[in-house]
Amino acid sequence: MRIIIVGSGIGGSGLGALIAKETPHEVYLFERDVILGGRCGSYTKKDDKGRTWKFDIGCHIFSTCDKGPLGEIATRCGKVIDWSYTKDPGPRVNVMGMELSGLAKSPKKQKTKKGKKKKKNMTEYLRTIKIENTWQYDEIPLIDFLNEFYGPKKEAVLKLMYCMNAGVMFGTSPTETSTGEFLRCMADNYQKMSMGYPIGGTGVIPETYCDVIKENGGKVFIGKEGRVKRVIIEDNEVKGIEAGPDNEFFEADMVIANSDIKTTVFKLVGEKYFPKEYLEYIQNLKWGGQVCSVKIGIDTIITKHKMLTYIPKVEKDSNLQQMLANPENIGKIDFGDQGVPEKTALLIVPISNHDPALAPEGCQNIHAVTPTAFGTIIKWSKADEKKWEQACLNTFASLWPDIEDHIVLEEYISTSHLEARFGKEGAGTGIAQSIDQVGKKRPSMISPIKGLYYCSGDAGGWGIGTELPARAALELFEIFKTNNFSNEKIFSNITS
Ligand SMILES: Cc1cc2nc3c(=O)[nH]c(=O)nc-3n(C[C@H](O)[C@H](O)[C@H](O)COP(=O)(O)OP(=O)(O)OC[C@H]3O[C@@H](n4cnc5c(N)ncnc54)[C@H](O)[C@@H]3O)c2cc1C
Repeated sequence: MRIIIVGSGIGGSGLGALIAKETPHEVYLFERDVILGGRCGSYTKKDDKGRTWKFDIGCHIFSTCDKGPLGEIATRCGKVIDWSYTKDPGPRVNVMGMELSGLAKSPKKQKTKKGKKKKKNMTEYLRTIKIENTWQYDEIPLIDFLNEFYGPKKEAVLKLMYCMNAGVMFGTSPTETSTGEFLRCMADNYQKMSMGYPIGGTGVIPETYCDVIKENGGKVFIGKEGRVKRVIIEDNEVKGIEAGPDNEFFEADMVIANSDIKTTVFKLVGEKYFPKEYLEYIQNLKWGGQVCSVKIGIDTIITKHKMLTYIPKVEKDSNLQQMLANPENIGKIDFGDQGVPEKTALLIVPISNHDPALAPEGCQNIHAVTPTAFGTIIKWSKADEKKWEQACLNTFASLWPDIEDHIVLEEYISTSHLEARFGKEGAGTGIAQSIDQVGKKRPSMISPIKGLYYCSGDAGGWGIGTELPARAALELFEIFKTNNFSNEKIFSNITS
């Protein structure tokens, strides 16, 4: 049978690789961009001196590398991806000059005097909790869990740090972050201790998966040839797609959408093919946080770190100041109302400290991402997008005062650029991992149309960033295998 995949993001290329490697089915993958990998793609650029630099579109750091779902897909397909772990030095967290790096790792051992309670230790908890025991917490907001764990008026800094972690991982506020999803992801990260970055740039991962498709008789169409215009439905069943510059028809037994779930339903397929309640359900799904990203190539070595979470010193009454006063305020920050800050919180990954080949000799390639909205969608104007870029550069300058003198190349991926290229209204990951959208409440990967499935950060799976669609790919592949790739069987299982 022929299986068509729309999009080469981690979900699409990962699932395509598994099908191509482990089954006799023919995989056709369509990607409208010239770069493979969607938000996880990479590209090269030359500077004035003709030297080559490699940049990533979105992604900067991977939670469990070879020990997680991204590595599992590669291994099952007989491929090796080389990873650099975020070790020696490990991750650094700096909040307004306060170093928090050691806090999570080295909790103070409390002397347990007779009759006195031992202090609760989150690190120990995360190192020992079993993933299967986290689902019961899915609908509890993270802030409630932290207040219960530590006591409502205790450990403000630790609470803030875990709330920041959730913001970085999911783009959700502590009032909407699912505790279950938070615990699964943190526990996985703490127990596997293998956070890092792929040698060669993030694009190596989807490119490797696409190689597997091609090496096993499948086809990968990119650019104009890979643009899918429509998914063709007849009698509530998928028939194929129209793609390429001439809208050529490609027949298929299954179509798997890695393209964003809302665009797939409303534009690629069309409203008339879905029940009204389903359309309402899809329309009301909430995206995770919007992001933008700045990458700089500098002609010096400015840091030895492999990852740094940095919140600069900020002016009184600013958004960041409010957030620091009380982590719960993260949920109340409205950048739309208050405008773009002068400086912002950054997750920084100097990618050439993981792989020196990503920058010319003696230079450094530093990537950073910042949230531009939590729990809401903001349509930023061009002028505001420019301000976000400047806010990131200002933040770099407050960390490394003379950095501007060393910038050779600068790449900026704005929220609206992400939206225009990859959809999801500029969300970093996809459908938010919030109390009402994880676990049993996660959108299903099986659509109400026979033969149409979703595989991306929008449906199924769990995990941080790229690991969410990678797990979705592994889960959907298992569903296909269990049902002998029969749409009929899968469809009757969900409708019965
Ligand atoms: C700035 C930024 C920083 C991030 N940092 C991290 C990080 O540090 N760690 C981490 O793990 N994750 C990170 N993420 C998140 C991670 O990159 C994404 O969650 C993940 O890559 C999404 O994968 P996906 O499978 O959902 O598909 P996407 O990457 O969204 O890809 C979908 C693909 O479908 C294609 N497509 C859409 N419509 C069509 C069509 N009609 N025809 C053909 N093709 C189509 C698109 O071009 C795209 O390539 C970051 C994201 C961003 C934006």
